[in-house]
Amino acid sequence: MSESKHLPIYRHKAELIQAVKNSNFLVVTGETGSGKTTQLPQYLYQAGICKDGKIGITQPRRVAAITVAQRVAQEMQCTLGREVGYQVRFDDCTTQDTVVKYMTDGCLLREILADSLLSQYRVVILDEVHERSLSTDILLGLLKKIFSDPAKATSGRSVPLKVVVMSATLDTDKLSAFLGDCPVFAIPGRTFPVTCTFGSAVGPKDIESTNYVKEVVKVALNVHTTEMAGDILVFLTGQSEIEQACDLLYEKAESIDYRYDVYDQTVEGLLILPLYGSMPTDQQRQIFQPAPPRIRKCVVATNIAATSLTINGIKYIVDSGFVKQLNHNSRVGMDILEVVPISKSEAQQRAGRAGRTSAGKCFRIYTKEFWEKKMPEFTVPEIQRTSLTSVVLTLKCLGIHDVIRFPYLDCPEERFILEALKQLYQFDAIDRRGRVTQLGELMVELPLPPGLARAVLKAASLGCQDLLLPVAAMLSVENIFIRPGHPNKQKEADIKHRALATRSGSMNDFATLLTVFQACKSSDRPSGWCKDNWIHWRALKSAFAVETQLQEIVAHLQRKRDFPVETFDGQKNELFRRCLCAGYFTNVARRSVGKAFCTMDGHGSIVQIHPSSSLFDQEAELNWVLFHDVLVTSRVYIRTVCPIQYEWVKDLLPKLHEVDVYELSSVARKEVTDEEVKKWESREAAKRRPEVSTVDV
Ligand code: ADP
Ligand code: MG
Repeated sequence: MSESKHLPIYRHKAELIQAVKNSNFLVVTGETGSGKTTQLPQYLYQAGICKDGKIGITQPRRVAAITVAQRVAQEMQCTLGREVGYQVRFDDCTTQDTVVKYMTDGCLLREILADSLLSQYRVVILDEVHERSLSTDILLGLLKKIFSDPAKATSGRSVPLKVVVMSATLDTDKLSAFLGDCPVFAIPGRTFPVTCTFGSAVGPKDIESTNYVKEVVKVALNVHTTEMAGDILVFLTGQSEIEQACDLLYEKAESIDYRYDVYDQTVEGLLILPLYGSMPTDQQRQIFQPAPPRIRKCVVATNIAATSLTINGIKYIVDSGFVKQLNHNSRVGMDILEVVPISKSEAQQRAGRAGRTSAGKCFRIYTKEFWEKKMPEFTVPEIQRTSLTSVVLTLKCLGIHDVIRFPYLDCPEERFILEALKQLYQFDAIDRRGRVTQLGELMVELPLPPGLARAVLKAASLGCQDLLLPVAAMLSVENIFIRPGHPNKQKEADIKHRALATRSGSMNDFATLLTVFQACKSSDRPSGWCKDNWIHWRALKSAFAVETQLQEIVAHLQRKRDFPVETFDGQKNELFRRCLCAGYFTNVARRSVGKAFCTMDGHGSIVQIHPSSSLFDQEAELNWVLFHDVLVTSRVYIRTVCPIQYEWVKDLLPKLHEVDVYELSSVARKEVTDEEVKKWESREAAKRRPEVSTVDV
């Protein structure tokens, strides 16, 4: 309790509560670590605001939602899940008693679908808005649209909803203007100078070739041996890199002789801690604990430590200069997770983490030239670089037809919106007029990408969801196959993985996922089974939980009166693959020459089967395949592959070429009212044309 009184936000407690009471929209800004996320909800709770409803706080990252909820429950001295709880996709830790609810932005978006007035809430806090995640941006637009009109704000609600938007950056004028010039509350905070130095390891030419993991390890060890006491925070891009770096650090730190090698003689050891999204939460808790006396802490983290989570005591930053980012790749027409240089503003944010409590130092491993030539000024908001398919479907389900003129804080490119409409049309989620179909309404209920959702629904209508739900669950968790670094161990793991693939009967990576799921589940010692087979037990445990939740959703959908029912007369193996075809016909490729395949989605990209697939090296026997995703390196690889027959997709493929995106644009801009639709319908009926070539969206 006393600890939180030292936070910058504490002195403004009364003013802040008043500011929230005074207006329906409020922007709150303050340096990271000032206490916005953990304290403001508690202040509002203490002020008695919860007697009229819950406080919901959104986070773009699921780890942040969970960790912060844990912290706040601890500060409020309650059990997590009681007064304070969290909800993230596939993990709901709330009860009837929960009044302070941390959740991912995606979860709140789903809640709006079920109840657009958010009647259970008194306050909604959109946190980390500067991150500009896709769902947060959409929430901003939706909350503005639904609640900014004072007349509408209370309609159907007993009291108006209070919306607080929190951001770490000072660029709040734009946010305030967007929200009808709402007041801005800036929490004054003091920061200390951070000296930044550039390195020589990464120049503008070696984005792909440099081993920056080795380099950050070298720099971190150098800091440890030559700098005064103070903790180190290293920024890398993802789990496997972080684990690799931690292993290297352990190894190298072993040989340090603290009598001779270390400049600051008060330092007698190094505590190495990884921090990434899918880490077990008990391990995450360790991050925040102070290191034992005379021990220096070194946290190796993803970008999550840049603003979402604040670790006290950090004095040194080692910045790799890279981040993992989801980007739409126009070459293959899909979203791809790739490692890219961070923006300059991001680099400054990272450096700033060293100056919270005293002056600090930031060591960048890249050159000044890299900074100037390769790093953009600002990070492009996610809405401008990823697929909008799920979001557009959500908006349409909320009755927002004009998805082009939706109030976006920054508009996505129109072609991305049209691409999303096209995909939804191809999936039969919307009709020619852009209205959500019955299938679309079912699809939006499943927290899965549209293609996978459609495959699952197909299976459900055929009564064989038991085949598809485990696969969907396995594709929703992190990679389940362990890839050991050591070549001998890698061979051993490969043999086991191949054996699992063979065990599934047909060479088909989706079937392998099903086999692994079932075999592990029915094993007496599932964790031991995983160990023997080089499978991540933790990932599988999550997959089991995800499958259970998906099952509940599907069962609920099946109880709906008009849920489609189909039958199929044939082998299970074919049935399984036909269901996959229903969702993945957009990801179909046909073999061209040698090992190459050509995609059928109109892009005609040349792709190859990734070596991790059980179908790798079997290309000669294949003609048609479908795949889950692609990996772009110097080549384009398809991963998680399944052989199919042309007949199964023959009727679906033409749909991919039925609409031209540019045809869509002329009608997409218009607000489609019911009257207009009726007019079109009667016009069409009058013409009695059997086939209409343009699509009205
Ligand atoms: P902001 O949202 O303004 O960036 P936070 O509310 O996240 O600030 O952090 C306020 C303080 O709470 C920081 O000093 C941070 O280290 C501390 N804190 C946050 N989460 C935890 C945790 N799980 N364990 C210990 N300290 C934490
Ligand atoms: Mg915060």
